[in-house]
Amino acid sequence: MATQTHNATHPSAFAGSPLAPVVIGVVGLGLLTWLGSPVLRHFEGAAIPWPAHGLALALLLSAQRVHRNLTAVLVLLSATLGAVFEGATAPRALGAAALLVGQTLVVVELYDRLTAGRHPLRGTIAYSRFLAASVVGVLPTTIIAHLTVSIVGPDYVPGWNIGHWLIAAMTSIIALTPVLLVVNAPPQPAGALRSLVSLEFFLLCAAYAAVLLNAFLHLGQFWIAIPPAVATLPFLMWAGFRFGVRGFCIAAVLFIAAVVTSAVINVGPFNIFGATVPERGRRAWIYLASLVGPSMLFPIALTEHRVAESRIRGTLAQLAAIIEGSGDLIAAVDRDLTIIAVNSAWVDEFERLSGRRVRAGIRMADALAPLPGDAADSLAHWRRALNGERFTVIREIGEVARLRSDYEITYGPVRDEQGVVVGASQVVRNISERRRREAEDADARRLESVGRLAGGVAHDFNNLMTAVIGYTEILQQSLPSGDPRQDDLRQIEKAASRAGELTQQLLAFARRRMIEPRLVDLAELVDGLTGLLRPLLGSGVQLAVRTDPTLPTVRLDPTQFEQVLMNLAVNARDAMPGGGKLSIELTNDLRGEQRGVRLAVRDSGTGMTPDVLKRLWEPFFTTKPLGKGTGLGLPTVHGIVHQAGGDITVDSVVGRGTTFIVFLPAAEA
Ligand code: ADP
Ligand code: MG
Repeated sequence: MATQTHNATHPSAFAGSPLAPVVIGVVGLGLLTWLGSPVLRHFEGAAIPWPAHGLALALLLSAQRVHRNLTAVLVLLSATLGAVFEGATAPRALGAAALLVGQTLVVVELYDRLTAGRHPLRGTIAYSRFLAASVVGVLPTTIIAHLTVSIVGPDYVPGWNIGHWLIAAMTSIIALTPVLLVVNAPPQPAGALRSLVSLEFFLLCAAYAAVLLNAFLHLGQFWIAIPPAVATLPFLMWAGFRFGVRGFCIAAVLFIAAVVTSAVINVGPFNIFGATVPERGRRAWIYLASLVGPSMLFPIALTEHRVAESRIRGTLAQLAAIIEGSGDLIAAVDRDLTIIAVNSAWVDEFERLSGRRVRAGIRMADALAPLPGDAADSLAHWRRALNGERFTVIREIGEVARLRSDYEITYGPVRDEQGVVVGASQVVRNISERRRREAEDADARRLESVGRLAGGVAHDFNNLMTAVIGYTEILQQSLPSGDPRQDDLRQIEKAASRAGELTQQLLAFARRRMIEPRLVDLAELVDGLTGLLRPLLGSGVQLAVRTDPTLPTVRLDPTQFEQVLMNLAVNARDAMPGGGKLSIELTNDLRGEQRGVRLAVRDSGTGMTPDVLKRLWEPFFTTKPLGKGTGLGLPTVHGIVHQAGGDITVDSVVGRGTTFIVFLPAAEA
């Protein structure tokens, strides 16, 4: 099918490799530290951009579970390195980095548990895109941190330059992480993860409230030092997973609003530096919030767009599935007669006819090249459709007689929303099978009416013959036994009896006799019949019977089956005037779901010419001399077999012999 759905966020081959987290860890985080530090150092002397926090979060969330520990170690190393660059002592740097990684891992682990590893970001990372986004992301983070520090002043937190760190970390978590996640995540409709339970919501809210309360109550230096933005993380993440990336962004905006409010009124949890630097603190928060707030719009907009896009893609995929599932052959071309869509039914049938496998993207004229006899007409039809005409043609297509089939083809224009013709489509139906069936049905109907007629005639005829025989007997009795006319009367009687027998055959053919179907074991029946067959065949014909004890029972009238077998055997004998071999074989057979018995009657006789084969089932068709053949044997066999729900086929080679194959369905249990 050419209408493939394109998956924009499919992870690259690189993402699947175990090297990926190593590369992203070393290159990505190293680059960030390396790029960011000198920039801030240039302005402030001892500052570092700290996108690592947000980056670590996004990375750990997106990485596949097997890569997580390695990723965490790399994040830890690079975070330590970053803090050392910043001027922290090694133990303090390691401590800060461990805090960062530990905290992030807890969040990631928690969400993994709650979502049974099925949250929308797991394993979706495209590392190359991730790398690009994070390198680009270092710029706004650096600039924001720098501007903030220059507005607020370097001694924002006296004695410890955690202020830079804090601001950069905040920016990265609430601005960089959503961007990174959105860029990497597959489109996620809102509320996609309904598996999350309300207990989880309750727990997260409680944890969030406890953290805020701690900060609010100023419970000592340690708690004050916890950046509120980081404490907010679980809540933000919950919103993200509960409502998609859009939820993440909305929660972040709400969070910013709380920050601004608390800064403006100079109370509350986010006024963490309280009375010492109230004015600077307030300015810092307001500034930060006003910058970060709008940056949320980007992921929101992008997510909206992606959701809409994925919906369209979903619809397209459904349409493609419908077209693909159609039994009809469907193809479409654009204005230049280039194939834009074909379903596999079309491709398969075209391959059958032309030996060539066609796909979307090639020109119809090129596709038709292996069928020169049909190409011109075909192309003319396509052009008519491109001119806006909708029509149906019935055509025979195929260069090789054996493959040629009849098709009913409906062409039509494909229009865009404005009604302009942008292409044309074709729905093709192979009607050879239907035509063959129609012809067969007509034959069957004709056979039936002939049968009815023959039956009616035979009935009357039989009554007349009964009268002839009756009067002949009366005459025979009235003449003395030595009378030479007795002989003539015997001839009359013989001829009349023969005529009566013929009418019996006619009646059997016309199925006027009551049939009594019952469950029969064909193997047993055939064994019983061989005794009757042998004298019938004469000494020149060798008889081989093979049956199978595991055959299923079938439902039919045993007398009728006897008739089938006798007719086939007598025909075989007639075809082997100089003797030969007749084999009768019963085996298990399966037609699709239908179990049944296969009866094969094979002779080594004269075989049949195609002309005889064509007329074989016709009533009264015979090649035998007058008085020998009636031409009713095979039509009778045919009628009986079909009435029993089976079918009969014949395979014959002139001079080699003939095989009749009868299939009889097994009786239902
Ligand atoms: P009939 O036997 O009275 O001619 P059937 O309907 O039984 O009528 O057979 C029709 C014709 O089919 C036969 O005349 C013969 O030409 C051909 N036929 C049937 N069975 C065989 C066979 N086993 N081998 C060759 N020809 C056969
Ligand atoms: Mg016959």
